[in-house]
Amino acid sequence: MPKTVVQLDFDGTVTEDDVSFLMLDEYVGKDWRKHLDEYKTGDITVGAFNKIVFGRMKQDEKTLTNFVLSDPRVQVRPGLKEFVEYCRSKDIEVVIVSNGLIFYIEALLKQQGITGLEIHAAENAFYETGVQVRYLGPDSQEVESGFKEVYTDYLCQKGYQVIYIGNGTSDIYPARKARHVCATADLLEICNKEKVKCYPFNDFFDAIKIVENLKLD
Ligand SMILES: [Mg+2]
Repeated sequence: MPKTVVQLDFDGTVTEDDVSFLMLDEYVGKDWRKHLDEYKTGDITVGAFNKIVFGRMKQDEKTLTNFVLSDPRVQVRPGLKEFVEYCRSKDIEVVIVSNGLIFYIEALLKQQGITGLEIHAAENAFYETGVQVRYLGPDSQEVESGFKEVYTDYLCQKGYQVIYIGNGTSDIYPARKARHVCATADLLEICNKEKVKCYPFNDFFDAIKIVENLKLD
């Protein structure tokens, strides 16, 4: 019997809003969004985008963590802990693969009382000159683009059937490769347009019901 894994996006999926964007608005000023446009049009990679904009963020880890844990705009969708517990009870692994930064993903999971999840996201190092970020693939080599997809390929190669859960435009690439897809927001729209079969969700109680009803191999 193949093993099952949930590949879970973080920003906009686990959280309602994009935590990186909230931090950038707070500490870098609005003009970082012009680089976001460059990333969205494909002129620069997500790796390059992060290096530019986080390179301008001079706050230390403590300040940034306090912001993420206390800003009322940072909201985790209901039912996350229950979803993780449900998956564990069914021997389904949960892996977070995110274009966001590891420090705030870990801090928010800890705040939710969730421990022991595998996280693949941007490695971060805090310097007075700015935050340095980079993505490392399963082979420990730096990945400039297609980070989420690299992990979907890796999980498929390891023989997992992948349930993908995401919200954004960058999630369509891994979603196309997954066995099952749970989608919300932009990803839901794109899946519908591309006729990629998916299950809509608003929170993780929905996700429990979806996974309960999936026909898993
Ligand atoms: Mg997202």
